[in-house]
Amino acid sequence: LNRRLAEFGTTIFAEMSALALSTGAINLGQGFPDTDGPEEIKEAAVRALRDGRGNQYPPGPGVPELRTAVAAHQLRRYGLSYDPGTEVLVTAGATEAIAASLLALVEPGDEVIALEPYYDSYAACIAMAGGRRVPVTLRAHEDEDRFRLDLDELRDAVTDRTRLLLINTPHNPTGTVLTREELAAIAELAVERDLLVVTDEVYEHLVFDGAEHVPLATFPGMRERTVTISSSGKTFSFTGWKVGWVTAAPELVTAVRSAKQYLTYVSAGPFQYAIAEALSLPESYFTAFRADMLVKRNLLAAGLTEAGFRVFRPSGTYFITTDIRPLGESDGFAFCRALPERAGVVAIPNAVFYDHREEGAPFVRFAFCKRTGVLEEAAKRLSAAL
Ligand code: PMP
Ligand code: GLN
Repeated sequence: LNRRLAEFGTTIFAEMSALALSTGAINLGQGFPDTDGPEEIKEAAVRALRDGRGNQYPPGPGVPELRTAVAAHQLRRYGLSYDPGTEVLVTAGATEAIAASLLALVEPGDEVIALEPYYDSYAACIAMAGGRRVPVTLRAHEDEDRFRLDLDELRDAVTDRTRLLLINTPHNPTGTVLTREELAAIAELAVERDLLVVTDEVYEHLVFDGAEHVPLATFPGMRERTVTISSSGKTFSFTGWKVGWVTAAPELVTAVRSAKQYLTYVSAGPFQYAIAEALSLPESYFTAFRADMLVKRNLLAAGLTEAGFRVFRPSGTYFITTDIRPLGESDGFAFCRALPERAGVVAIPNAVFYDHREEGAPFVRFAFCKRTGVLEEAAKRLSAAL
């Protein structure tokens, strides 16, 4: 492994999912649902496959049906108008969109500011692009149940070498949904310092308690400097299909596409047709999906509280970050490595998402995108064991 990647090794998700398999523990680590998305969307994929749509290399930017559906979704939900011909790019999941964006836009030595804790592929992709990551830490203060962005810290992190801001809202792993005010401040900073913004909005449909997802591209001066990333994996519960997309101004899409060409060339064809149909599902699908996840969030949050964790109630995503210190623990790594044997449950130590490992040490993440019976059993086991 070369020096750029030496620090990354095996992802925590692979490590913890393997531990779940070998111990038979309930896997609340890696974020994937244990129930597939809508039958009719599966049928759409089968139909595409059978009808010979997408079985050979689809068009480089993605099949027109999906690009049109993505553009329609951005317009319908957010009033953002993108030309499906030049401003939408289909990728192999959001993961490839992140990689291609950073490889295309970052020069070696450029600084990339990311919100810490950050989704693990950000660090690896910044490194592959030869960039330097500059973390800005989200913190929950004593009396708060939300991890918050310190806007002064963000402002201070910008230097003459800063090339782009890598933002994620709703935020994995903390569940924070950046507010309109926070986003406006990020946008102002980007415009003032002439920065590009790559924004990972894969959990855009998973917001609770009246929180609102506002795309950064909707703020003044942002449309032309923002690469917006989303994915069907989270919204439609098909994480294995790996259909994601980018929306941005033509020059940015062209740049990202240049990198994508040499990563995967194109993404799997038949699934693109099916996701085009998924994006056109009636609003009732999205409402029901959110309502179902809210029930699961409340169930797991109550269970974790009962078991003795301090729970940060997420306004978005399907993750709950907890603090293990009330349990008399302080090392999330050790806690998560022991938890399968001790309680029959797998979780993720948030420290892996930090450069400042000590900041993340006492935090542990649980995924609640699981059947309610599974969440109940996990909560019971944790209460009994801890
Ligand atoms: N970004 C974030 C914040 C995520 O949580 C995930 C899923 N783990 C991804 C990107 C990757 O999405 P995909 O599976 O579409 O590649
Ligand atoms: N995004 C999911 C998570 O955060 C899974 C990611 C992965 O397995 N790479 O758990």
